[in-house]
Amino acid sequence: MAQKAAIIGSGPAGFYAADALQVTIPGIEIDIIERLPTPFGLIRGGVAPDHQTTKKVAHKLEKTVINSNTAYFGNIEIGRDLTLAELRNLYDAVVLAVGAPSDRKLTIPGADKIGVHGSAAFVGWYNGHPDFVELQPDLNVDAAVVIGHGNVAIDVARLLTRSAAGRARTDLPDYARAAMDASPISQVTLLGRRGPSDAKFTNVELREMGELSECVPVLRAEQLPETAEGEFMERDRRLRERNLATLKSFLDIDPAGRKKRVAFEFFARPLEVLGGERAEALRCERTRVVEGRAEGTGETFDIPCGLVVSAIGYRAEPIPGVPYDAQQGIVPNDRGRIEKGLYAVGWIKRGPTGVISSSRPDGVEAAEHIAADFPEPGNKPGRAGLSRLLAERGVKPVSFDDWKRLEAEEVSTARPPSPRRKFTDVAAMMKFLEESKR
Ligand SMILES: Cc1cc2nc3c(=O)[nH]c(=O)nc-3n(C[C@H](O)[C@H](O)[C@H](O)COP(=O)(O)OP(=O)(O)OC[C@H]3O[C@@H](n4cnc5c(N)ncnc54)[C@H](O)[C@@H]3O)c2cc1C
Repeated sequence: MAQKAAIIGSGPAGFYAADALQVTIPGIEIDIIERLPTPFGLIRGGVAPDHQTTKKVAHKLEKTVINSNTAYFGNIEIGRDLTLAELRNLYDAVVLAVGAPSDRKLTIPGADKIGVHGSAAFVGWYNGHPDFVELQPDLNVDAAVVIGHGNVAIDVARLLTRSAAGRARTDLPDYARAAMDASPISQVTLLGRRGPSDAKFTNVELREMGELSECVPVLRAEQLPETAEGEFMERDRRLRERNLATLKSFLDIDPAGRKKRVAFEFFARPLEVLGGERAEALRCERTRVVEGRAEGTGETFDIPCGLVVSAIGYRAEPIPGVPYDAQQGIVPNDRGRIEKGLYAVGWIKRGPTGVISSSRPDGVEAAEHIAADFPEPGNKPGRAGLSRLLAERGVKPVSFDDWKRLEAEEVSTARPPSPRRKFTDVAAMMKFLEESKR
């Protein structure tokens, strides 16, 4: 007998937790349960399709994790196919690694107009996430505004302004690539309520905006301070100074031959989406930063645009039977422990910040709690019990081997230089798996 752990969610946090559990409790039986047939959470469905090197981390994660003691149960959703209470009866420990999939909502008048999207949906759509395939945003517009000054905002702006040749090297689904290639969008405004010193872009992503073959970044020199403004820790200051230097370097780019523009608009906040049924412009208010807070100045201006994407953060959804901190949008926990037998890692634990590897220490922490709470093997049924329950309900899980067959099909049907042609529909994935077994 061994200790039994179930991990709900197969994003990076789920894989890191499995890895840490294997190391901390040798011999532990681990099942990773994922609502989609496909693993890897936001690595597949969030990381930008033109950042294939980043997406490759998935291969590293799977190598260290999937073996006889760790199994993958894809296409099983907790809350749909079985309840959390049922899962907790089957395993000693259950680790929540479900992420924070929902947008922080844009709550200004007109936010419900056609042409206004949250980044979770928009990014999910261009990454072929089955939940968002139907979004079909209208890109037949001249200008877009992306609200937010973080990496997600910059991903959206970059994909909208990349050349068709650049997009051909991505794994954008056919429908998204076709819509972007046909789109006349030539002006994207990146709107942030604070100044250049406060923007949350990482420097690599920011620099990339200056390297696009058809697009020039546009800034107003008077918005760029001499040095980073505000009180920062030394490391933070260096990062901000680097971003400032990159932004200044954009002023020297020769716009000749680059037909698209990404305008960095600092010190401005959205007030209202203008138009009839559809978005036609975004009314903004100029801000100033007072003691670290952005305050409106009363001066307003309008940016004409037919597409608005708000990239202002994510939040977790409440899980039945688990406490929920609506303010922070996370599950309250003590360094990853919710209570004996229930743990949290990744974005559901910490909130939606940090990079892929930020979830690694969460896994270590959860594994230490589980080792302390369950020093001896118990008598929970674990995988055998899960398989029995699913069979009774006629629910067929997707195994990791099944996923590898889906992946092989995606890679073999790709049209070079694209690395893969994603399945974007769960029914099509299940049909392929059924038919290719025969
Ligand atoms: C648009 C975007 C771009 C990003 N780009 C980068 C980047 O380039 N580089 C970088 O380092 N970081 C990037 N990040 C951050 C990174 O993706 C996150 O830090 C990381 O994915 C969080 O991991 P997670 O496992 O907590 O959540 P997720 O990756 O969201 O994984 C959660 C998983 O749980 C599953 N799940 C949810 N509910 C259930 C349920 N009820 N039952 C079963 N399964 C369930 C989901 O389907 C999903 O697979 C990006 C984030 C976003 C949003």
